Amino acid sequence: MTYLKPFAIVFVVAAQTLAAQAAPALPMSNAKVRAALDLIKADNAWTMQQQTELTEIPAPPFKESKRAAEYKRRLEALGLRNVRIDSVGNVIAERRGTGNGPTVVIAGHLDTVFPEGTDVTIKRDGGKLRAPGIGDDDRGLAVVLAVARAFEKVGLQTNGTVYFVGDVGEEGPGNLRGMRYLFGKELKGKVDYFISVDDTGLGIASRAVGSYRYRVSYKGPGGHSYGAFGIPNPIHALGRAIAGIADVQVPTTPKTTFNVGVIQGGTSVNSIAGEASMEVDMRSEDAKSLATVDAQVQRILRDALAAENARWKGPRAASAQLTMRIDTIGIRPTGAQSDNAPIVQTAIAAGKALGFTSTTSASSTDANIPISLGIPAMRIGGGGTAEGAHSLGEWYDDGPNGYVGPQWAALIVAALAGVHQ
Ligand SMILES: [Zn+2]
Repeated sequence: MTYLKPFAIVFVVAAQTLAAQAAPALPMSNAKVRAALDLIKADNAWTMQQQTELTEIPAPPFKESKRAAEYKRRLEALGLRNVRIDSVGNVIAERRGTGNGPTVVIAGHLDTVFPEGTDVTIKRDGGKLRAPGIGDDDRGLAVVLAVARAFEKVGLQTNGTVYFVGDVGEEGPGNLRGMRYLFGKELKGKVDYFISVDDTGLGIASRAVGSYRYRVSYKGPGGHSYGAFGIPNPIHALGRAIAGIADVQVPTTPKTTFNVGVIQGGTSVNSIAGEASMEVDMRSEDAKSLATVDAQVQRILRDALAAENARWKGPRAASAQLTMRIDTIGIRPTGAQSDNAPIVQTAIAAGKALGFTSTTSASSTDANIPISLGIPAMRIGGGGTAEGAHSLGEWYDDGPNGYVGPQWAALIVAALAGVHQ
């Protein structure tokens, strides 16, 4: 464990200045933890089997129930008790601790981005397994099962209770509904640490990218482009708005972005459209910067409406004033969590103990909800390599040491929940 020494020194210094930020010690000397790590490696084929079998059960947004039922069955088969499906469809298995440690949730998401009817059969191509969802997030679901199985098989007694979860609604349309319910109702006030195992690799997403997404529509009576000329035009209003949004200035640090991703409207070249709409997305890892760009965009939307209505004078124009409607597609909250947070430091230390260096980044995942609530949380990769997430060409390759992913997750959970030495 010589490579752990630098971390230990850093930790001692940090502990003197920031006692509340102390990262839990890694339980590397605990025989049962070591046995759990060995078992995960030895039974890697079992983990791969979970991943491939779950991939072949379709789970479109809002249609995760078939995969959820199977996930529940598999958790029960491992010997876990109190396995339930909550009212939004999350599968939750509870593994009781001795009662004097932090409660930890480890979760993978059940949903994919793929619509009903997508071919989810796995095609083997050398070391690569090709199928939509195989990495994002069937890898995460398999890792959660592998950790639960290892803890059960070796009889690891954690201090804190550990919840093993397969959640719904992580992808765009789901708008994190599984997490909103888990933290807002089902396990409200009970969770001390949250880990989302999402996608592959050995990276840590420690900061949450928040987002606002809107569908904006301008509407009017419309009419003939020649005969009704002189009334406000919804497409022109939309154009004014897009031109304004295109000129918005945002900081590079913290990274803050905006995008008009979809535009729609109009019926023919010689008609003033009755409606024109767009979908706008804004993101930032900083709540204040996100609120600032949102306020700018909202003002531009109103100004575009006012400018187009003011452009045309007279009674005909006055009776054809445009209206605007803003529908929320999704809001993902962000929140402050630094890389010095004990949960992040524990993940980095656990990676070092297993022989790799993990880097941190910001992303938009299930961890957004707990981070926005001030609950320590992160997304970790499930190991292996993959490409093409969210595309039909998605593939996963376990490589020679894919098992390191579930080992890492197991070590982090054991460290955070605490184990009986
Ligand atoms: Zn995912």
